[in-house]
Amino acid sequence: MSDCIAIFLIASSILLLGLLGGFFFYKKLLVQSTYDAVTELPNRINFFNALTQHLLKYPTMPFAIIAIGIDRFPQINQALGYQIGDRLLNHVAQRLKANLNEASMIGRLASNVFIVLAPEVTNQNFKKYYEKIMEIFSQPFSVYTVNIDLDVLIGFSFYPTDGNAAAPLIQKADLALYAARHSVDRFECYQENKDPHHRNKISLMSELREGLTQNEFQIFYQPKVNLNKGHITQVEALIRWFHPTRGEMSPDSFIPLAEETGHLKNLTLWLLENGIKQCRLWEEQKLSLGVSINLSVKDLLNKKLPIYIGSLIKEHKLDPTLLTLEITESAFMREPHVAIDATRKLIQLGVNLSIDDFGTGYSSLSYLKKLPVNELKLDKSFTQDIVHTERVAQIVQSTIRMAHTLGMTVVAEGVSDEKTVNLLKHFSCDLGQGYYFSQPLSIKDFEAWLATSPWGKT
Ligand code: C2E
Ligand code: CA
Ligand code: CA
Repeated sequence: MSDCIAIFLIASSILLLGLLGGFFFYKKLLVQSTYDAVTELPNRINFFNALTQHLLKYPTMPFAIIAIGIDRFPQINQALGYQIGDRLLNHVAQRLKANLNEASMIGRLASNVFIVLAPEVTNQNFKKYYEKIMEIFSQPFSVYTVNIDLDVLIGFSFYPTDGNAAAPLIQKADLALYAARHSVDRFECYQENKDPHHRNKISLMSELREGLTQNEFQIFYQPKVNLNKGHITQVEALIRWFHPTRGEMSPDSFIPLAEETGHLKNLTLWLLENGIKQCRLWEEQKLSLGVSINLSVKDLLNKKLPIYIGSLIKEHKLDPTLLTLEITESAFMREPHVAIDATRKLIQLGVNLSIDDFGTGYSSLSYLKKLPVNELKLDKSFTQDIVHTERVAQIVQSTIRMAHTLGMTVVAEGVSDEKTVNLLKHFSCDLGQGYYFSQPLSIKDFEAWLATSPWGKT
């Protein structure tokens, strides 16, 4: 009998141990599936579930969902290695946890994006919270022996204004974060008109495709005047959309959207074809006007673009030196390798390369070492200040000197009065562009301008 009891006790102990082991194993699995291993924070699914519970428990309490993104994290990972990258994310998570004590939950939404549920934060009082987050990131992070300064982008969505369920609130904070890339203060609150998924914009995109086949687009030309010769030598091609119901639309209202949704490619191809045709036409008329065409960073991702431009030049028998491609300085910051590789291939075609909006990209100028750039276009924010601000005038003058030393010509954008023209001439600036000479004009108006303007004789 005592043997039976002993066997029973041993068997039940084994069973209990097995159950306990299973329980701990299950618990470990649960932790692994709901917590992120790198940051030890709740993962996206866990955050989503907790937010859903929060909404059920406190339906009348306002709050904010805040997406915090580490800017240029892929570049940091590339430069310092994944081990340091992971450690850095862990440090960020710990610092957020230690400092955002009012937050009821902090999670990791994506590789470099953290997500916070902040009770009592509303669209009236969120600025204080924004400042607090900026303060958290004002000190560098020390990982092993490396000190790393981080820039952050912040997106806010608010309950109940922006939605009453977890999914739209998280998605809208994330969209606001995306829009924050273009904001000087590095934050945005969700706004329907900045939402690329907004219905109005979706319909705009299908209209864009339609518009190309219906000839709703036109190229306007703005003179680039040679200040030394005193007349036009080039034009910049600027796209216009004459929408059947919305009226004339400026490129700023549809180019960024076309970029985001992959529709820019066809627009660029259309513009290149028509701009090159027009340039050839002027060449045949012995006008010899160079044409500048804007390329966006998304165009540079199109590997076939240099081949396409090459074949257009050949087909229309154009002197390639008459074509200039304008690429914004920020493209070299956003996608440095892509931009440098693509521009190298474009330069091989014999065309000119121009750096647009120069001075606004916070750039290290290192791309200038690597690329034979022909032209710098000083951003209009500089040009418009040279007559009022001595310091800006000095910056412009030394930029022109530097560009000339490197064999580049300089175009000042946004020239709006005679005083500016005289000062630019004094600084030996090569070309001027702006409303003082002319607004961008339709081909008909431009040809009239050519015939009548004192700057129009070539
Ligand atoms: P951007 O390349 O910097 O073009 C110059 C913009 O400044 C033009 O605006 C022009 O109308 C405006 N502008 C010219 N002179 C003056 C001036 O004296 N004062 C002021 N305040 N503005 C002046 P627009 O045509 O609305 O184009 C805006 C931007 O849209 C362009 O900036 C360019 O980045 C983009 N864009 C225009 N056409 C195209 C295109 O065909 N493809 C691509 N990718 N982007 C384009
Ligand atoms: Ca331009
Ligand atoms: Ca520009």
